[in-house]
Amino acid sequence: MTSARTRDRLVQRLKDHGIRSEAVLNQIRKVPRHLFVDEALASRAYEDTALPIGLGQTISQPWVVARMTEALLEDLAGATVLEIGTGCGYQTAVMAPLVKKIYTVERLPELMKKTRQRLRQLDIYNVQFRPGDGWEGWPKYAPYDGIIVTAAAPELPEKLLQQLAPGGRMVIPVGPPGFQDLLLVARRNDHFEEVSLGAVSFVPLIQG
Ligand code: SAH
Repeated sequence: MTSARTRDRLVQRLKDHGIRSEAVLNQIRKVPRHLFVDEALASRAYEDTALPIGLGQTISQPWVVARMTEALLEDLAGATVLEIGTGCGYQTAVMAPLVKKIYTVERLPELMKKTRQRLRQLDIYNVQFRPGDGWEGWPKYAPYDGIIVTAAAPELPEKLLQQLAPGGRMVIPVGPPGFQDLLLVARRNDHFEEVSLGAVSFVPLIQG
């Protein structure tokens, strides 16, 4: 159930659903998603669906991870990326080899601890972790070429917009449960441009 053939089937499905980036598809093929979920769910790890990971949180759907990564990294090779909502670290692991450095923020320290170990076991070292509130971003290493938020915010977080470099982009689900829109926000010199990438379903970005 976790074989190369099972993974190839997932990759084919993502291609059929419009994912074009070979680099991203390769990462989906490579990253062992079954190691990011409970053993009881491992047999479903290569289905294109979100799954529960405990503490009321989920591992994102592979298509969403692929779409967000593709949109964020289009012309950002060598980028530094801020990630909000580390969770189990699947999105982090898919993105890590495609960028220079990821700074990732998670509000549940327990989850973060496990994720840190998991990524180390997978030989991923270009990730720096911080337990804390993602609404604040991580000012110390700002500005970022890319910002990826993997929990839904009711509106665009002002502090994250401020931490985006000119020419940088942010992908973020915005809206209430059931009505979330995945936005791609590009920072030009003096303004922000928004494009919608379609409807999505994420757990909420908790306030405070
Ligand atoms: N990126 C994950 C999915 C994350 S689920 C994946 O690849 O599967 C969303 C995560 O956001 C959860 O772990 C949740 O604890 C975290 N989160 C929610 N609100 C947050 C906040 N204000 N700051 C930081 N993390 C937050």
